[in-house]
Amino acid sequence: MAIQSVGVVGAGQMGNGIAHVFALAGYNVLMTDISQDALDKAMKLVAKNLDRQVKGEKITEAEKDAALGRIATTLTLTDLGKCDLIIEAATEKEAVKSKIFEELLPHLKPETILTSNTSSISITRLASRTDRPEKFMGFHFMNPVPIMQLVELIRGIATDEETYNTLLEVVENIGKTAATAEDFPAFIVNRILIPMINEAVYTLYEGVGSVKSIDQSMKLGANWPMGPLELGDFIGLDTCLAIMNVLHDGLADTKYRPCPLLVKYVEAGWLGRKSGRGFYDYSGETPVPTR
Ligand code: NAD
Repeated sequence: MAIQSVGVVGAGQMGNGIAHVFALAGYNVLMTDISQDALDKAMKLVAKNLDRQVKGEKITEAEKDAALGRIATTLTLTDLGKCDLIIEAATEKEAVKSKIFEELLPHLKPETILTSNTSSISITRLASRTDRPEKFMGFHFMNPVPIMQLVELIRGIATDEETYNTLLEVVENIGKTAATAEDFPAFIVNRILIPMINEAVYTLYEGVGSVKSIDQSMKLGANWPMGPLELGDFIGLDTCLAIMNVLHDGLADTKYRPCPLLVKYVEAGWLGRKSGRGFYDYSGETPVPTR
């Protein structure tokens, strides 16, 4: 089916980036959140990031204006019922996501494709609670969405070929590259990346190195563009912890146990960049290591 309109649920870090790339590619986007503040911030950020692309001569001023004109926001989830494709990008909690789908289902067109940007939750399980498991897929964008080239496409056990092919085409239309992953905990990128970040937190927890020395080691010694702790702060430590828990529960292997220090940071509300503090303090001009 031809997709023209896209409903984005959740206007956080990922939601605003997803709205940005789809609007720029010519899709009409309707974005929703439970918080008006999140919607306002998301629209400001999309405008700022589009501006950056104009300054870098990647897009024209007219393309920026057209993209902004294609994004509308609403606080009413069910307004998204008229969209051809739904991309759920709300908080990484299974209960939150299931409730969103449950509320949305009676308002959807029969042909609408449902997707989740979840980093780790079972697509098959999320799909099984809907009326259209064959039209349900994992649609996993990377952060920051306008910059990162990859999109993971995750087929649930019931996903049909038509849905998969439609999404492959959508990925091409937004100028990104798809990698197909099977529906196992955390898929490909996070199955490898998040345990590495968790191991960096263990390295800090056990006193092997400071925040600075751990990040510097991986940047200069392994050629990572960002240190693992810096990257954890960037992704969101709550998201990292949620993914470790999914790996631990789903694969039943102790090698995936979340580091107690990661748990402690999340309990303290030190979630990384988005809360102003994580392994770095972001209140000043340049981030300062906290340990
Ligand atoms: P975030 O905390 O920045 O944003 C989540 C947003 O969802 C918030 O604005 C919140 O108000 C909203 N929300 C919560 N409940 C809602 C509901 N019932 N209806 C509508 N909106 C609701 O989180 P994020 O980093 O944008 O992550 C969102 C999703 O994307 C998660 O599933 C996460 O695993 C996934 N993801 C994150 C990253 C990353 O690097 N941060 C990368 C890929 C995928």
